[in-house]
Amino acid sequence: MGQTAVNMNHPNAGHFRRLLLNWYRQNQRKLPWRGEGDPYKILVSEIMLQQTRVVVVEDRYKKFINQFPTVQALARAREQTVLAAWSGLGYYRRARNLHAAAKEITKASEFPRTAEALRDLPGIGRYTANAVASIAFSEKVPVVDGNVKRVLHRLTGRDLSEEQYWQAAALLLATESPGDFNQAMMELGAVVCVPGNPLCIGCPVIDCCATRGAGAKQAKEIRKKAVLKYSLCLKNGRVLLQQRDNANSLMPGMWELPAFSSGKAIQPLMRLKHSITVTDYTVLVYAANLTSVEKGRWIAMRSLNRLPLTGLARKIIRHVANE
Ligand code: SF4
Repeated sequence: MGQTAVNMNHPNAGHFRRLLLNWYRQNQRKLPWRGEGDPYKILVSEIMLQQTRVVVVEDRYKKFINQFPTVQALARAREQTVLAAWSGLGYYRRARNLHAAAKEITKASEFPRTAEALRDLPGIGRYTANAVASIAFSEKVPVVDGNVKRVLHRLTGRDLSEEQYWQAAALLLATESPGDFNQAMMELGAVVCVPGNPLCIGCPVIDCCATRGAGAKQAKEIRKKAVLKYSLCLKNGRVLLQQRDNANSLMPGMWELPAFSSGKAIQPLMRLKHSITVTDYTVLVYAANLTSVEKGRWIAMRSLNRLPLTGLARKIIRHVANE
């Protein structure tokens, strides 16, 4: 299949679809959302999977669906409860948008059944709308995410523009089973045509591939380092926390430990590592007294599960509880 990206409607395209779908049906990973037909649950999984690793999402998805089993249950929940359930997954705007979308769907009394209608919901872009519409309602629309782009790039051996990726995915799409085909493309990118060195020997579509791994380079991620300092104030089973400003673009409204600032050279109580996207943080936690912390609220440790904590705050408190 060495033709141009926008000319993938080649006789071999049918062969490619058959190989890919057969492989996917026999080899797909067992994941809690696989085979799911409820569009609400598919939407939750798709939103969680954006920017979060599958291994993290697996467990969190099950808990979230247990807590909010229907779109109506999610719509009825308080925002603080939804954010608390999202705690540790990061990118909290996703949780806020999902909550707002659940309210709109409940108000309309019907789940949107097309990609076009899904895109009217808050926070739902082309990828999520097409994924839900193809998996839940078999709409003949393609998906393009990072995995699909990598597969298409290597299959064609060409650098494509954003729109060309969508065109190529649309031309390859198996229209009789678009949901399975879309998931198969993403699965291929996730487990075989992986970043860095693709596993071409085990690739079901190697016969259709223009590059067969040639030119694939080990992706070298540039990571940054930074230090974060926090104060830990504990009193009678309670911990002092501060709420991030709602106008903050990062994690607005979430709760965290107060920042620590002192000119004195003192030893931290605890030191841990924490990574967010491309930054590796060294986190230093200092024992602090009330006078060294400007403001905050004392929260009982046993109530923390109900509070939307930042992932890092939850990690620090878990360490404190285990010591
Ligand atoms: Fe990717 Fe290799 Fe398969 Fe081509 S043959 S699609 S490069 S895994």
